[in-house]
Amino acid sequence: VAKQAGKNRYHLFDTAQDNANKVQQQSIGDFHVALGRHEFVLHYQPKVNMRTGEVIGVEALIRWQHPERGLVPPLEFLPAIEGHDISLELGEWVIDTALSQISQWQNMGVNLPISVNISAYQLQQANFAARLSILLAAHPEVTPQNLELEILETTALSDINRVSATMAACNKFGVCFALDDFGTGYSSLTYLRRLPAYLIKIDQSFVRDMLEDTDDLAIIEGVVSLAKAFKRDVIAEGVETIAHGAALLQLGCELAQGYGIARPMPADDIPEWISNWKVDDSWRLQNTIKAS
Ligand code: C2E
Ligand code: MG
Ligand code: MG
Ligand code: MG
Repeated sequence: VAKQAGKNRYHLFDTAQDNANKVQQQSIGDFHVALGRHEFVLHYQPKVNMRTGEVIGVEALIRWQHPERGLVPPLEFLPAIEGHDISLELGEWVIDTALSQISQWQNMGVNLPISVNISAYQLQQANFAARLSILLAAHPEVTPQNLELEILETTALSDINRVSATMAACNKFGVCFALDDFGTGYSSLTYLRRLPAYLIKIDQSFVRDMLEDTDDLAIIEGVVSLAKAFKRDVIAEGVETIAHGAALLQLGCELAQGYGIARPMPADDIPEWISNWKVDDSWRLQNTIKAS
């Protein structure tokens, strides 16, 4: 009887699992279709030096131009595909599209580095560096230094030996790394020293509350001095107001990205945005970063 019950339970479980797999496979199938129909698009958010006014690059951020749902933000679909082959295909599409974009801008006389977000699963692939070199080889006109990769601090910490080896292999091609959402992953000093990342991105959660919460302010202060000690660049994410920018400059953080400077925008809008930003020769934090 017990065996019978066990068997039934097994069948029950099996059926539930089958249904779950079916649902997932159906939505995974949707992503293949969407990729085939060119429904994914990259928007670009400028990164600037608040002191000099220089535009130092842009971050590529994926969106899904869904026929019914409209423009779907990445966190509404990327988690569903992470760990599946389609996430690797999409990840390569992002790198390839960014390389084409660098090339297009180069032709217009705009030399603009693009940073691309890389998922944990993508970076953990044994052939990640090899695949990257193939993508770079397909765009011989692109200076590899114009491609940057952003990995989450938590991804870097998950398997530091392997991750730092992969990063070093990519560095050899001229591609550099940023540690994204920094401060959320409990990096020790030793870990940071071992990771070949030239840039640290302070997570926007600390910036958001830095003016009200002295703990957040202290964390930013700590990350800035950590970056300086290890000779890494540091950028603040989520800079929304003049007050944020002013406080960050005072702490010695000159690089910034956020809605207060520019929202992510389609590629076609970037050259005009840059020239407007440049022609403003009276550029100063106070008159350019508008409170939102
Ligand atoms: P992230 O890499 O930390 O990117 C910053 C996110 O913050 C973006 O959201 C950006 O639009 C948003 N943001 C920028 N400035 C501000 C601000 O001042 N205030 C606020 N509240 N938000 C701001 P988005 O585009 O929705 O992307 C969310 C996350 O999705 C990204 O976080 C990144 O982890 C992931 N992601 C985006 N594109 C890709 C991609 O192509 N591949 C992978 N693997 N992940 C991606
Ligand atoms: Mg990022
Ligand atoms: Mg971030
Ligand atoms: Mg984030």
